Amino acid sequence: MMDMSKLPILKDYEEKIYVCNRCGFCRPACPVLSQKNMEETASPRGRMSLIYGLITNELKPSMTIVDKIYLCTTCRYCYVKCPAGLEVDRIIEVARYELTKITIAPPEAHKIISSKIDNYNNPFGEPQFDRIKWLQRESAMKLPEKAKVLYWVGCMASYRVQDTAITTTKILRHANVDFTILGTEEGCCGSVLLRTGQRNPVVNKYARINVEKISAKGVETLVTSCAGCFRTFSKDYPEIVGDLPFEVLHVSHYIERLIKDRRIEFKEGLPMRVTFHDPCHLGRHVGVYDAPRNVIKAIPGVELVEMVNTREEARCCGAGGGLRSAFRELSITIAAHRLKADALPIGAKVLVTPCPFCILNFEDATKVYGIGIDILDLTELVCKALRI
Ligand code: SF4
Ligand code: SF4
Repeated sequence: MMDMSKLPILKDYEEKIYVCNRCGFCRPACPVLSQKNMEETASPRGRMSLIYGLITNELKPSMTIVDKIYLCTTCRYCYVKCPAGLEVDRIIEVARYELTKITIAPPEAHKIISSKIDNYNNPFGEPQFDRIKWLQRESAMKLPEKAKVLYWVGCMASYRVQDTAITTTKILRHANVDFTILGTEEGCCGSVLLRTGQRNPVVNKYARINVEKISAKGVETLVTSCAGCFRTFSKDYPEIVGDLPFEVLHVSHYIERLIKDRRIEFKEGLPMRVTFHDPCHLGRHVGVYDAPRNVIKAIPGVELVEMVNTREEARCCGAGGGLRSAFRELSITIAAHRLKADALPIGAKVLVTPCPFCILNFEDATKVYGIGIDILDLTELVCKALRI
């Protein structure tokens, strides 16, 4: 039997897990379950039963259980559906942390990510200098040493979805924003580590270092591209290091503000019919639903057509919670399901989302499954409308 003294934090959740009355209302919400033949242990309810078994010593930690606990995108849709208000996603993150502490977790793919972040400051193991390669495509842009606004590009937009970094900087320049970036000094925010139970390096190192580097630039406002970075800075870091000395905005917030302040004006129309996908870590986790929609609605000519499953009820793209890195095929299948089940039936030809991680997974899904829909970052849509 497992030594329970090694699971003190999870033990704190025992009472909470007990309120799970096994009703199963969370089951249809889970993006993983439907792709796993509705197996109970792949459902939120099943995961709660497994974790309860671990806490009460009725189950021994095993690789099979670890697998089930990591088959979760931490999308939080189950929480929306739960009549008992159980934060299943949070409990899963804590369980991952506890399983990591006794070294049976995380899965190998997540261990490798952790070591790459440790050695290269990004989860892909790419050279640090390549973090600013996209800047070369953005015609020798000179940025000040210090500025009021700091654009936190994030690993995903720096290395994998560079169009997002380029279009975001184009918009900031167009609006004459006094901004800078950390450039080669930027590192990983640690989001993937927090979500996969590898909390300690973020608590002991990355949160403090990142906040110090940003503060040293005299920053008043931090703007992020990735929904995961946004959640990490706005929700996790304050829990770890206390109140931050700057405000944290997602780029959709910031563009909404620029439009309100008339620093961005759309002079020409953009005849386009689009639908919008809410990233889980922006929407359900932090409650940002209106800002990106307000940006889309401000563009003359663009028609926003909502999917049935939207806002709090938005189905996950499948990329988050470490699922893409450990279970790539499953993750892409979930993205394809979102497109086929929700976007195509409303006749959407373009899906807009404000998160490079969602974009990456959706684009992979369109290629793998031959789905005819264009995936656009919100900043790309804004650039098209501004003709920049
Ligand atoms: S957080 Fe999402 S993926 Fe995880 S159990 Fe809940 S519904 Fe399923
Ligand atoms: S909806 Fe909530 S109470 Fe019902 S089975 Fe799921 S986690 Fe348990």
